[in-house]
Amino acid sequence: MTGTTMLKSMMDRILSEGIETVLQSLTDAEAIAITEQFGTHNYHPLPVNITGGEGARVHDGNGKEYIDCIGAYSAVAHGHLNPHLIEVAKRQLDRITLTSRAMYNTELALFLQALAEFCEQDMVCPMNTGAEANETAIKLARKWAYTVKDVPANQAEILVCEGNFHGRTTTIVGFSSEEQYHEHFGPFGPGFKIVPFGDLDAMEAAITPNTCAIFAEPIQAEGGVIIPPTGWMSGLRELCDAHNILLIWDEVQTGFARTGHKFGWMAEAARPDIMTVGKPLGGGLLPVAAAVGQRHVMEVFKPGDHGSTFGGNSLAAVVGVAALAEFVNEDYAGMSAKKGAWLKSQFESMGHDCIVEVRGRGLLIGLEFAEGFNTKALAKKFIELGVLTKETRQHTFRFSPPIVITEAELTSAVERVDAAIRAVG
Ligand code: PLP
Repeated sequence: MTGTTMLKSMMDRILSEGIETVLQSLTDAEAIAITEQFGTHNYHPLPVNITGGEGARVHDGNGKEYIDCIGAYSAVAHGHLNPHLIEVAKRQLDRITLTSRAMYNTELALFLQALAEFCEQDMVCPMNTGAEANETAIKLARKWAYTVKDVPANQAEILVCEGNFHGRTTTIVGFSSEEQYHEHFGPFGPGFKIVPFGDLDAMEAAITPNTCAIFAEPIQAEGGVIIPPTGWMSGLRELCDAHNILLIWDEVQTGFARTGHKFGWMAEAARPDIMTVGKPLGGGLLPVAAAVGQRHVMEVFKPGDHGSTFGGNSLAAVVGVAALAEFVNEDYAGMSAKKGAWLKSQFESMGHDCIVEVRGRGLLIGLEFAEGFNTKALAKKFIELGVLTKETRQHTFRFSPPIVITEAELTSAVERVDAAIRAVG
């Protein structure tokens, strides 16, 4: 059967049976097979098909329950189907959802002010995904370079870190040090210099008169949960002040309480000129992201300089506001710090020789296994025992569950992880 006829038969089924009936009738195995046949293979998912969830728990079509320790790569902080967010979204669905930026909308007004204030910044450029927010920050920095700092045309340089992860656009992968992320996707534009992560001296040595920005993550989450030395973040702020350079923090993964601070950079005196945010800002419902920054940079954008059809849409904006309200109301930063410290101490005291390091801050924890340890078998065992987690780089399993995970669920996750390691090791 060709792809087209399969697609037709799916549409025939949908038209005759209705979306809901087809959705309910597909087995997990069928859903996985269809995904593999019709979806490009740019992911290698765990062999688990999720059909529902609540809080920190998800289940497959057979009703098998899992503790979700991936949390959609830190995007689900509020838990699956957070009732407060769902209620706000449902109300908005009866009002208006998408206007485009051709008009104003009241929800966007709320979102812009609430987000700017939450981030302790002045202005917001709303986008949808983290990668778009980062592209926005790059454009802001370059325009600032030419119109404020007087860098000669097309000479602006941005310093980035080895091991970075800022998204998947062609500009961004062009300065990734991870071979697979950029190989076969060139040619790439110039203007980025890669500097070792956590090395202030190297960063200072890389600065030239054309350097307009330092762009980095406060913790490299995708890179294996790598935490920089104390003083690096504040040191970058000082370097930027001394050399008239913008400091840009990518808070897409570390932002909104994930690391036990409101934002990752808040562990030190390292206030950025621009920060990019996303993931949990959408409350696990929608893609909501933004570049947020100080007025002196943000106001370089003039009408027509940048845009996004969906950025700042009414539904996303109101969900973003509700997500922010939850962070404040429920003290997500406090929850993340407390639960994360407990989880880290549990991992540290498990006493398995195969664990070479436990790294993390808040509920962003990496469990690194010794070279040669059978992490593939472990990944399988985790699934069998009902824990969802995935390897990042360097044999490291990342744990970034929804911040609302209960103490009982965390305890159960630790017991399952322990049992899985015993079974494999
Ligand atoms: N920046 C960081 C630090 C991330 O971890 C990610 C995604 O994992 C991104 C940017 C890209 O975000 P998105 O997938 O929403 O484009």
